[in-house]
Amino acid sequence: MTRSISDLAPALRDVVRDVRTQVSALHAELVRYRLVWGTAGNVSGRIPGTDLFAIKPSGVSYEELAPERMVVCTLNGEKIDDGTPASLVPSSDTAAHAYVYRHMPEVGGVVHTHSPYATAWAARGEAVPCHLTMIADEFGGDIPVGPFALIGDDSIGRGIVETLHGSRSQAVLMQNHGPFTVGRDARSAVKAAVMCEEAARTMCIARQLGNTIPIAPDDVLALNDRYQNVYGQRPSR
Ligand SMILES: [Zn+2]
Repeated sequence: MTRSISDLAPALRDVVRDVRTQVSALHAELVRYRLVWGTAGNVSGRIPGTDLFAIKPSGVSYEELAPERMVVCTLNGEKIDDGTPASLVPSSDTAAHAYVYRHMPEVGGVVHTHSPYATAWAARGEAVPCHLTMIADEFGGDIPVGPFALIGDDSIGRGIVETLHGSRSQAVLMQNHGPFTVGRDARSAVKAAVMCEEAARTMCIARQLGNTIPIAPDDVLALNDRYQNVYGQRPSR
């Protein structure tokens, strides 16, 4: 039997509404930072207290998004009865988002874009090297490359999870494809997507000037520790 939002307790229905509102609004950030074009790209957010998440509907342009059009899915990526028409199906990347939520319980948000500079590094299958303090701060090392994977089964999700588990990074560049980012919530995952593109862009420019200078591993750790743990209540971008 298909699950329904109306089966949830009233307090949880409020949580669903709040996450759909946040996820819908965050898509505008992808546009504002020029990370997406057309209908490509997607944000999702885990719905706390449930085994559900909300994600962008497939093939809908950014101007047409609204909280009530965010599709609610189980952690297996199946749409539930969420009040949207049957014709509104979740993003074609839903299986990858669902796989991440199933295997990374600390993750509360996932973002995918084809932002051009990060995707350029993905085309090369080359990690964005940690040669800037901002990359050490945000990602704790190189922004890693995940395997080439075809859409349609769990292989993208598995590649994301396996790559992130071997790294401190919140971003992975799936080879020949583009960046996926994660965060404790959807807003944090969007910030990682913005910073990933900024890091990729700046390192691309630096590379054109010639060789770039690595940061010593101990210094990378010190920068990352300070930024993540001491710097504290930093405003989100
Ligand atoms: Zn994609």
